[in-house]
Order: sequence, then C-alpha cells, then structure tokens
Amino acid sequence: MGNENFFRSQPKKGNRLRQENSIEQKKVLLDVSSHMGKIELEEIECLVCHSNTPELICEAKDYESEINYLFKVVKCSSCGFVYTSPRPTLKSLFELFYPDDYICYNSNTNSVSEKIDSYRKRIQNYSRMKSALRYYKNTDLNILDVGCADGSFLKYINERFGGRTTGLEPKEKIASSALKNGLNVIPKTLLNADFEKNTFDIVFMFHVLEHLQDPIANISKVNEILKIGGLFVFEIPVIDGIDRKIFKRYWWGYHLPRHLFHFSLESVNRVIEEAGMKVLAIKPQIRPTIHAWSLQNYIKQTSLPLLVKKFLSMNNPAMTLFFTPMELFFYFLQKTSVNLIIAQRITKNG
Ligand SMILES: [Zn+2]
Repeated sequence: MGNENFFRSQPKKGNRLRQENSIEQKKVLLDVSSHMGKIELEEIECLVCHSNTPELICEAKDYESEINYLFKVVKCSSCGFVYTSPRPTLKSLFELFYPDDYICYNSNTNSVSEKIDSYRKRIQNYSRMKSALRYYKNTDLNILDVGCADGSFLKYINERFGGRTTGLEPKEKIASSALKNGLNVIPKTLLNADFEKNTFDIVFMFHVLEHLQDPIANISKVNEILKIGGLFVFEIPVIDGIDRKIFKRYWWGYHLPRHLFHFSLESVNRVIEEAGMKVLAIKPQIRPTIHAWSLQNYIKQTSLPLLVKKFLSMNNPAMTLFFTPMELFFYFLQKTSVNLIIAQRITKNG
C-alpha cells in the first residue's frame, strides 16, 4: 500500500523522550469566516522530525459543520509523518468543533440504530478488555480510560471485571454525566492530570490519540504512569486501510479538522517505541459503519433529494449491513482502517 515510503529517512534529532508541552509550533493565525464564527488556525511543523516541509496529500471539508473551508492533510517530506496543517488552535477546536452533542460523547438515545449500536458496543468492550487480558495476567487491576466520554467502557469494566477504574474526560459537561453514574471521572486532559508514576496496570485510549495536539507527549505520559510491564491499549484509524483509497477525501478517518494526526501502522509503531514501549499486537477491527460514514460524507455534497440522503445515511442500519461483506473482506486481508494496538511499557522511568 505504499507504506515503504513512510519514514524513508531517520529523524534528524534521533530518539528522544519528549517532555510534555515542550514542542514549539510555528503559529500562523488565519481568520476563516463562517456561520460558526472565526476559526483560529495554526500551521505546525512535523511533530516527529521537526522539519517544516509539508507535501499536500488531501484537502477536505468538515462534513459535520459544513463550514466553507478546505482543511489540508499533509505528509512530512522528510520523514513521512501525516498530519493536519494548518489546524484549528486548541481554543477553536473546543469552542467550535466539539459541541456537547458531538457524535462520540453520548451513547444514550432511543433510535433503533442506537439500540443496535449499544449492543455492538457491549461486544466491542468485551473484546477490547479480553484482548488486553491476553497480554496481562495480573489481577486487582488499576485501569485508566483516557477520553472516556460518558464512561460507558468504564461502567462495563466495573460490572463485568471489577478492579479500580478512573476516567479522564476534559469536556466538563460530559465528565459530570459520567460522575452522576457513580464513575470516577476526572475532568482533565492526560497532560494536566496528576497521577503518580507507575500507577496503572492498563491505560486505554479509544479514538483519542489522533485528536490530541501532541500525541507524542501524551504517549510519554502514558509510559510514565504505567507500571513496568503495564499495557497501553488504544484504538486509532490508520491510513493503511483499503477504504481510504476508495473514499479518498470523503474517508471517515480524516474527520477534519478534529483528527490532527493520521497515523500509519508504521508511524504509530515508531512513536510508541520512541516513548519506551513495545508494540505487542496489532488487531484489525471490523467496523462496517465507518464505510457508511464515508459514503454519507460524499452524499452530503450531492444534490440528491433529502429522503435519499436520509436513507443513505450512517444512521440507517441497512447501510451498515450493506458494507459488512466489504469490511469482512478488508479484515481478511488485514487492511481495515480501525486497529486496536496493544503496547507494553518496558523501560524504567528516569
Ligand atoms: Zn517529519
């Protein structure tokens, strides 16, 4: 899939553990007028090798807000890392692109597709935890879920497996709904949270890494708060999936401008190793709904009647069913977009 071109040269500065908030990004502030108000954008250099030689690989809209701006996905011509630049500043992202009803925050609605979805999530939660336990035999687990949203994963772990669980959810309104459910959720980001070193057995992070301003600093922090031998279990979209080649700019995994980084299996492996961890397993996941999401991005741009658009939307369970054979085929080839990655802390903290 052309992956051999990624990381064709080594980073200029060699391996290093990044200290939190140590990166300095070149900021160019632009104003983009839209019905949402002004968006503050910043251009960034490559997070991995610090060169500033971006090659444009794709331009795409935000298909949710439909603001009239084409965000850019670029590839570092020096090391091959793929990222969004310019990107909204943290302030703009939180104010404009993560409303309280953002798709990933809430799992409690009554539509048929949401009911099916909640059943699917239970299976997904079980499979995520089981995958982790295959590589970690200790009992009395101390578990952290970073970006836990409404805490449904933690709730499931409490009920099914027990142990101690903590969640981090920076959006306060979402965190407070998890607190109301009796979950231990702290309204902070990982970099701002005060955890002792060597605290957790497993740190989970599902579809969060690609949203973070500095995923490398976050991975370093995960490494620090894990016990030696502890697991970092995370799920991300990767650009290696076949569906990206099919849907191109409409590919759900770009999710611009919310996805700031677009990892490949190779690039994620490298940032994990640089943080002092080792990737134990990469597990492609079966998620047919994501293809319905990509199709919906495309359909939104057409002049088809509203009724047709509604039928072809990702909320229609028939669309998920329609894409299931295709996703199973990608899974058979081990080329799905969504991958669960299990990494282990192997170094001692300095
Ligand atoms: Zn680079």
